[in-house]
Amino acid sequence: MTMLDKKNLLSSIPSVDELLNNEEINKLLDICPRSVLVDSIRDCLKKYRDYILKSQDINEAELKLNDIIAAIGGHVRNKMDNHLKRVVNGTGVVLHTNLGRACISSLVIESLLEISSRYSNLEMDIGKGIRGSRYDHVEDILCRITKAEAAMVVNNNAAAVMLVLSTMAKSGEVVVSRGQLVEIGGSFRIPDVMAQSGAKLVEVGTTNKTHLWDYEMAINENTRALMKVHTSNYRICGFTEEVSSEALVELAREKSIPAIEDLGSGVLIDLTKYGLPYEPTVQEAVASGMDVVTFSGDKMLGGPQAGIIVGKRHHIESMKKNPLTRAFRIDKLTLAALEGTLKLYLDEERAIKNIPVLKMLTESKKDIEERASLLYKRLISSIGESCSVSIEEEFSEVGGGSMPMHRMPTAAICLTSHRITANELEKRLRSNEIPVITRIFKDRVLIDMRTIWEDEFAIIEGALKKALS
Ligand SMILES: *Cc1c(COP(=O)(O)O)cnc(C)c1O
Repeated sequence: MTMLDKKNLLSSIPSVDELLNNEEINKLLDICPRSVLVDSIRDCLKKYRDYILKSQDINEAELKLNDIIAAIGGHVRNKMDNHLKRVVNGTGVVLHTNLGRACISSLVIESLLEISSRYSNLEMDIGKGIRGSRYDHVEDILCRITKAEAAMVVNNNAAAVMLVLSTMAKSGEVVVSRGQLVEIGGSFRIPDVMAQSGAKLVEVGTTNKTHLWDYEMAINENTRALMKVHTSNYRICGFTEEVSSEALVELAREKSIPAIEDLGSGVLIDLTKYGLPYEPTVQEAVASGMDVVTFSGDKMLGGPQAGIIVGKRHHIESMKKNPLTRAFRIDKLTLAALEGTLKLYLDEERAIKNIPVLKMLTESKKDIEERASLLYKRLISSIGESCSVSIEEEFSEVGGGSMPMHRMPTAAICLTSHRITANELEKRLRSNEIPVITRIFKDRVLIDMRTIWEDEFAIIEGALKKALS
């Protein structure tokens, strides 16, 4: 291509003003302000100019007006699209940390909307007409469910642990078993949280065995608490021993120091009834006599991100006065979602049915298979020609650092394109307007039906049609 050809091509590119007068481009003003549109036009035209200058051989057909308009449209939509957006979770991991952990029950959405868009009694005692506390809204219900004396809520469980230690053990020592020094994920480690709180961690026992006398020997006049941490995301098997909560509490009482427990995932229902492995419930931890118990709002509890602290009243009252509480304070949206979720727990059947995390964890394989077969039929008729589709028996995980050894039998839609690789198909599904997140196993793309809602079938079908075209 000669320089002259390039010059001709460059001069054939429409100007910004010309494009602004174009009908198609003008329609974009419905979805974005003029300044964004002008920027997008400039960006796209610059790209075309650079492309022409760099290219050795350009087919003029590549620079049709329609292509330029389409590119500008894509650019604008990309800019105006929310960065934080919903995705379809086809991984089967119920508490997927990267995908937002727990999905909140649709039954609490209405109150969320109302509390966020209108004024509320967040910090007002309506009865007395005086300033109230934001913690009052969920304290009663937390106490009713867990049978604890008092309760409060902060941003997340990591903050809860830090607040507890800062309040109860600052400048003192806290005794923890070596078998319970958890790293939660994202390099977030319990020993580091403890260090930040100002409490000195005293490790006792060995990785696999810790005895009551290990704790006993570590206690001195600087000891402020004995702490038990739930080994959420790992298990130590074989020749092991752990001190029971009851024994730890008894020792703490004898020495007149408090016993605290970080439960990690907050389970409020005995899930063994539903075929899940045994997990200590918050009620059991409270009943064992623990002075303070902390747990997450958005792990197995299935609510919003929050750190819940329940326990003896005088400890909770001191925590409410700790300045860190202000830094860790929970916002009104979270409170609304948490109150709504906790209310569902007043009726166990209602909780299992309406809290998505519990519903997904307890759903029978038969029900998942039925959903799989509905989607299968739909996909066979729409994309069956370009892709082989089957239903396979698979296993899904709980995720979110909960029940790490538990594999739940599930049904997955299995896809193999006749034209593109599994990696390419996975990537295209992920790039969909509503991203569809899948798993690759043995060169096939899997959609685990445990975490798929029936109202997402159309999204999956649309994404697949686009990916395979
Ligand atoms: C998950 C977890 C935490 C942190 O809870 P977040 O709500 O994620 O802050 C703390 N301790 C244990 C044992 C956990 O499993």
